[in-house]
Amino acid sequence: MIFGPPGSGKGTQAARLEDELHIHHLSTGDILRKEVARGTPLGQEVGRIMSAGDLVPDDLIVDVVRTRLPEAEKGAGALLDGFPRTVAQARALDSMLRDEGHNVDFIIALDVPEKLLVDRLLHRAELEGRTDDTREVIAERMREYHKLTEAVLDHYRQQGRRILHVDGTGSPDEVFDRVHAALKKGVPAKSRRSPRFRGV
Ligand code: ADP
Repeated sequence: MIFGPPGSGKGTQAARLEDELHIHHLSTGDILRKEVARGTPLGQEVGRIMSAGDLVPDDLIVDVVRTRLPEAEKGAGALLDGFPRTVAQARALDSMLRDEGHNVDFIIALDVPEKLLVDRLLHRAELEGRTDDTREVIAERMREYHKLTEAVLDHYRQQGRRILHVDGTGSPDEVFDRVHAALKKGVPAKSRRSPRFRGV
């Protein structure tokens, strides 16, 4: 699982981890954006919510993950990016994984100061033109993050899970080196011998 506020570089690091660990990158944001672009019923339902910077309803996103996770986990496993984003989603994930006899191997949390997050998102707006990368919508996404998403880390801490905090400032290469080091230190050697940690 890769965790962090909007603009922290989750997607960028997840893509690299996918290449390196051969785990399937499952990004709920990417999935939803594709649904919006294709104009599917789901896309029509969530398009406006996403453009406003709000979270889509838990039951809806949990269904999306429930249908895709088993396929994504085949092989070396799945890397969740953008999910879970509320405690209710984390609980739903706990029960999905329990049913399958699977678990969360690691949680990486990217730490980036808020001022830098906003600068990065505004810069991305110039390059990619994502509808939710305007100053106003970014502010709403940050509010949602503090109000609902931060508590997800507490949920896992309460379960006694170790969160691998990584400094997310600097270039993607620098951050990736730190992610790599954190995995090496934070994931037990026994787990790292499994195929999914080939290369770490
Ligand atoms: P970012 O982390 O930069 O905000 P994402 O691509 O992860 O970008 O998510 C974009 C938007 O998609 C969110 O603002 C939200 O509207 C919606 N979304 C993605 N994942 C979830 C989720 N797990 N729960 C609710 N909404 C989500």
